[in-house]
Amino acid sequence: MSLPVIKLKRGKEESLLRFHPWVFSGAIASLPSDLEEGAVVNVISADGTPLGTGHYQIGSIAVRMLTSDPDENIDEQFFAKRLRAALDLRKTLGLSGENNNAFRLVHGEGDFLPGLVVDIYGSTAVVQAHSPGMHFARNIIARELTRLEGAGVTNVYYKSETTLPYKARLDHDNCYLIGEYQGNIAIENGLKFHIDWLKGQKTGFFVDQRDNRELLRAFSRNRRVLNMFCYTGGFSVYALSGGAISVDSVDSSAKAVSLTDANVAINFTPEDAAARHKSHAEDAFKFLTAMQPGEYDLIVLDPPAFAKHRSALPNALRGYQRINAAAMAKIAPGGILFTFSCSQAVSKEQFRLAVFTAAARTRRKVRILHQLTQPADHPVNIYHPEGEYLKGLILYIE
Ligand code: SAH
Repeated sequence: MSLPVIKLKRGKEESLLRFHPWVFSGAIASLPSDLEEGAVVNVISADGTPLGTGHYQIGSIAVRMLTSDPDENIDEQFFAKRLRAALDLRKTLGLSGENNNAFRLVHGEGDFLPGLVVDIYGSTAVVQAHSPGMHFARNIIARELTRLEGAGVTNVYYKSETTLPYKARLDHDNCYLIGEYQGNIAIENGLKFHIDWLKGQKTGFFVDQRDNRELLRAFSRNRRVLNMFCYTGGFSVYALSGGAISVDSVDSSAKAVSLTDANVAINFTPEDAAARHKSHAEDAFKFLTAMQPGEYDLIVLDPPAFAKHRSALPNALRGYQRINAAAMAKIAPGGILFTFSCSQAVSKEQFRLAVFTAAARTRRKVRILHQLTQPADHPVNIYHPEGEYLKGLILYIE
């Protein structure tokens, strides 16, 4: 069966020849008038040269390329092959085993599957489609996930209610595509976490902070720790396990705070938890304003994406400046600050400038100890630098 064809304007094949995985709508010369959103399409240059196959969608990104090989079909075998390659990489990284079974199996463009995210929590895969094309392929993907040897996936939960383009009107409820709820405890670096994929944010957990949490564990001994924007308490559990004197977890969402408490409770005795951990359902700005100077000697600032779009950039940068200035002004001498931005619209340089401005305002001696990014199970496709989103700094404040 031949696929619908999208023809590009002259010269607009350049980025595809450099393996960039997107075709912007402005690059298109012609497409079939009855082309449906989510369709698998062949893309050709102005002179008719085949450039590959992708998923079509209405919007500024019009095609997300799945293959540059004109002879490769987008079928079960295609997904089986890409998922196999993704799992092989995670096995190489040592992420799928007894000590760790929470990881990202598919990171969109970073795994040559644009529009698809799959996180693994033990025997459950949580699948997120960001494009109509991946939505239509969801049942094939689910089946291939359970067939993927060595993955141990028996349940597939589909969670795309908030990630599919609103205008596509796919109106799909979150649900199990295969299997059912069979418990929700996953292991990350030997620590246990309840993962709430049914009601939690994203796929239920922020697997992208795994390496940074491990680093924090090493810095926590004998420190009084503040974990700001704690969500499920990942950093809090690591800090406690690293020998922190005390850990305060703060999030404006009461639900997040109770998830944090639950995660502390499954890793530590009730006495230990009561003695060393406290959680607060409070606004970050309020908490930072009320905090006493010298109260903490390790602070984590891992806020939500302040800039979801470029238009929000100036406000976002001011937000980063404000929270970082408050933390740096009040952290105890010799304190360590872990500070992050997960906004894709904020560049590494812009984030660093915001943190620099905050530091200068406090007039303290501040040094960068580590520059952090996303872990290896969130790989960046070298032809798609836009895939880099998580930035962080570990600062030493005298
Ligand atoms: N550090 C977490 C992820 C943070 S996600 C981890 O490692 O898993 C961002 C969190 O910030 C969310 O849980 C959200 O509820 C919380 N949040 C958003 N705005 C806030 C505010 N003004 N004050 C405090 N928490 C806030």
